[in-house]
Parts: sequence; C-alpha cells; structure tokens
Amino acid sequence: MEFSLLANAFNKMESTRKRLELTQYLVELFKNTPHDIITNIVYLLQGKLRPEFEGVELGVAEKLAIKAISKSSGTPIKKIEQEYRNSGDLGHAASIILEQKTQTTFLAQDITVERVYETLFKIAKLEGVRSQDMKIKYISSLLNDATPMEARFILKLLLGTLRLGIAENTVMDALSIAFSGDKKNRNMLEHAYNVSSDLGKVAHVIAVDGIGGVQKFQINMFSPVRPMLADRVKSESEVIKKMGESAAEYKLDGERVQVHLKDGKVIIFSRSIENITKYYPDIVEKIPTAINATNTILEAEAVAVNEDSGEFLPFQELMHRRRKHGIEKAVMQYPITVNFFDVLYHDGKSLLQVDYSQRREKLEKIVKEDDFVRCVPMVIVKNENDIEEFLENSINSGCEGLMLKMLDKPYQAGARGSHWLKLKREYRNELGDSLDLVVIGAFFGRGRRTGRYGTFLLASYDEDSDTFTSICKVGTGFTDEYLDRLYQILSSKVTIKKNPRIDSNMESDVWFEPELVIEVVASEITLSPIHRAARDVIRNESGLALRFPKFTGKIRLEKMAENASTNQEVIALYSGQKKITFDAGKM
Ligand code: AMP
Repeated sequence: MEFSLLANAFNKMESTRKRLELTQYLVELFKNTPHDIITNIVYLLQGKLRPEFEGVELGVAEKLAIKAISKSSGTPIKKIEQEYRNSGDLGHAASIILEQKTQTTFLAQDITVERVYETLFKIAKLEGVRSQDMKIKYISSLLNDATPMEARFILKLLLGTLRLGIAENTVMDALSIAFSGDKKNRNMLEHAYNVSSDLGKVAHVIAVDGIGGVQKFQINMFSPVRPMLADRVKSESEVIKKMGESAAEYKLDGERVQVHLKDGKVIIFSRSIENITKYYPDIVEKIPTAINATNTILEAEAVAVNEDSGEFLPFQELMHRRRKHGIEKAVMQYPITVNFFDVLYHDGKSLLQVDYSQRREKLEKIVKEDDFVRCVPMVIVKNENDIEEFLENSINSGCEGLMLKMLDKPYQAGARGSHWLKLKREYRNELGDSLDLVVIGAFFGRGRRTGRYGTFLLASYDEDSDTFTSICKVGTGFTDEYLDRLYQILSSKVTIKKNPRIDSNMESDVWFEPELVIEVVASEITLSPIHRAARDVIRNESGLALRFPKFTGKIRLEKMAENASTNQEVIALYSGQKKITFDAGKM
C-alpha cells in the first residue's frame, strides 16, 4: 500500500477534532487497506509500532532526526534548526526543506506503508555503538524517497509527535462500520480489545473473519487482559445499599500484577498493561511451584513486607525496585508477598464470564499459600457491622481499606463499574493526643505472629456505668518484643467468660480481666455502629471509635483500668475535632 494514502489520511485527520469526521476518514482508510497490513496501520494511527504492552519504543532524538534531514537534503544543520524554530514542528520544517529540494530532483521511487513500517521497526530495534549512524542512514534513505508531506509524517512518527487525537473508541467505531456496516457491533470489538489489549490484532480479525471472528475472540496467554476497576464509595451503608450481601477483601497498598504462567514461563503486567516482569524476578522464580496450575492468568497485589514482623509496608517501599541496575539487590532489600485476588484464565479456558464466587473458589484451590503467596483475605459481609469490623481488621494490618465485590457477577475486563467498590479510610486529621485504653480482648496472630496475640480489642472507661466500652481494635505499632511481653502479661488475665463490666458487641478470641492499660494514638474519632464508647451520645445507635489506632510502645503498668481515658475525654476529642456542639445534658 502506498504510504501517500496513509499520509493523506493523517493530513485530513490532523485538521479536525470532530469525532464524526475522524471516524469517516478512518472508515475510508480501512476500506482501502489490504488486510495483511491493517494491524500495522492501526498501530501507526496510535503513533506506535506494536501494542503498548510489548514496549517497542521508537525513541529517536530530535538532534539525530535533524542530522538525517541534513544528510538527505544536503541542507546545513543550522538552516534546519532555524526552520524548526520558525515552525515549532520538526516534521513541518522537514517538509518545507524537502519542498525546496524536490523542485530540483526526481523522486527515486514510491514509498510503501510496508517499507516505512519495516524501517521504523529496524530503527526501534537498533542498539549499540554504531546505532546512531545506522539510524541516520535509515531515516535519510526514507526521506530521500518521500514527498514533503510523507516526510512530515515519517518524522512525526519517529519523534512520537503524531497526535491525531483519535481515541481507541473512535478506531473501534470505524472498524465496526468499515467491516460490518454498522457501528452497533462496536461492543463486540470492545470486548475483544479488553481481553487482548491489542487493537491491531482486533482490526485484523474483523477485517479477515468479519464480526463472527470477533465474537469468537479468546484470551491469549501473554496478551494482558485490561483490568477491571472499582467505583469509590464513602461509607459502609452505601456498600449495603448498592450491593447487599457481598464479598469484602482487604485492599492492599501495593502494585497490581497480572501474572501469566504457561509451562513454567512467567510474564507480569502492570495495571497500565506494561510488561514489568523484570522488576519481579522473585515472582518469576517462585510462581511456577507456588501455583497448582501450569496454564493460567492470575491477578494479585504485590506488597512490600517487613520480613521480621510480617507487616505490610506502604506502596512507596515497593517502588525502590523500579531501577535500571541492581534489581537483584533491590529484591533482597525489599521483599514482597504476592496476594492473589482473581483468576481470569485456567487450563485453556477463560473464566471472565464466571461469577466472582466460583472464581474465588478456584483461586483458593490454585494458590498454595505460604510466606510468599497467599489469597487476599476475604469474608462475606451482610451488613454495615460486618463491613466495619473487616475494615478495621484491614486497616490494622496496614491496608488501605476494603474492596467489595458482587458475588454473582463476571469479571468486566477494562471496565470501571459498580460490581466492584472500594472503601478507603483516608488519614484526615491526627487527634493530637494519645489515649490510654484498657485491653479487654485479643485475637490470635497469623504468619509470624502465630502463637501470640496479633490484634487487641481496647476499651475506654465509662464513669457513669463503671464499664469498659469497646472503642477499637489495634494491630499496628507492635514489635515482636512487645507482642511477646504482652502475651506474657495478659496470659494471667485471661477469663473464660467475658467480664460483665466489659461492654462490647464484638467477638474476640480471648477475653481478659479489664486491667491492663496501653497507650495508643489515632488519626481520628468517628461514629461507629459497632463500638460502644459514648453510645447514643452523639447519634442514636452509634458509638465512637478510633480510626487508624497505633500502639505507641507504652504499656502503662502504673495505671489502673479506671484511670484509662474516659468517654467524656473521647467525646471532647471528637467534638474538638469536628468543631460541633452537642447536647451536654446527655453526657
Ligand atoms: P484504586 O487504585 O484506588 O482505584 O484502587 C484499585 C486498585 O486497588 C487496584 O488496581 C489494585 O491495585 C488494588 N487492590 C488492592 N487490593 C485489591 C483487591 N483485593 N482486589 C482488587 N484490587 C485490589
């Protein structure tokens, strides 16, 4: 196919931003494109040579392009630079320079799309010391045979400055009209694109096999599936309103990884479908044996962990791995766990249409949990209390919040929708004061904390009723030494039944005599449907709870439980924080 056809289409498209016109130009172009090169035409339209996830970068520097223009036109570099300054676009400058030249020379031969594409591809692959000279040679040879307009677009492609403003949706509209006669079939193309992330390939299928071919389009190993995304919600009640009973999973603060595993070969894609395999040699090494499958696509959150405590570390820690050199060292310095939350493909079959519950069941069978790989913690939640309780656990484990997922819904590749919701707890304001709270219960630890208590249930003191009202669970801020010490101190305080002075709706693995006081800080105090501190004071049916509580390292052995922070103090902190007044008479 003559390159002039494509250059003409580029030229027309550059002059409009109207979607309908753009679509019309694309339809014309696609109808005139031989099927065997439609894939490459679609990549070129997006200013690329291959689908995004293959990471083929043209990356030609302006300086080098100027040298090539000079070589092919015999024009001094200074003059080209001058022209570039005047027009602000090197492609345009080249076309003006070549315009002057073509008036005196003959074009040697027509250039084809195939030749331009192949040359650009060769340039992209060149490496090493002599690559600069070779690039100049390739570019100038193309420019020698190009018309000024063709040269303009060749340079724009080379420099990555071709900005036609055509969204993927517009390309799909045009493909649908050109090859099925109707824009309505766009959604089938969209599905094919969502499961392959490769618009060029989708174009080829519809051009060659028609819409029937697109309908049969399947997931391909090592072609990333575009990830399903979640809507944001602000409260537990919003989740229940939108979903009713659903699955709640920890929302971990790491990097989303889509792991493709086939016969021992592993490729990892990021959320933006970039190939990030090189940053995770540990996943590549361990996954083939950590998974009960040989042919599968799984999604996980890779999270940095503290090897000693097993605690999740924030996302920033993981980013230390993003470096050119010394990855092996970074892998040792910043160990991770891989927390799987979905399975998209298994043993040659797509699971995208399968309900969440069944996918989760399958996932739990596939993942052989150990220190490195696990399934993201999940529970089924039925009401606000369930959500709040799990949210607290998640935050205590260093997570950002929860992901809520509808049990009976498929995986919607590439879509943000209401089948997945995210509920985050942001740090808002620090309380500005620490609280001394009574340890009333505890939960056994997992992982490195096995055999000790991992999380504690704490209470404030209610002077009026002389009770200890639950106010939060805390699991952060404890070193291994503290956990050992607390285990020792608390073992003498374990009770068979909950002490009647304890006021808590929560279930706990063990209950204690309300005696030991520890100090915590928190980011804020919020209303809570489950905690009992200052119940009904601010709002009916609500108590107050601490968000993001953290142990400060102080075990207040000198304090009696009755000297712990009182509900009046908690209310005062809450009202100071919210700057509200309330009926003091109720206190
Ligand atoms: P956001 O980036 O805030 O839109 O939240 C979505 C991201 O949360 C996903 O892209 C994942 O990287 C991450 N994430 C953490 N835990 C989960 C989970 N259990 N399920 C799905 N995504 C998760």
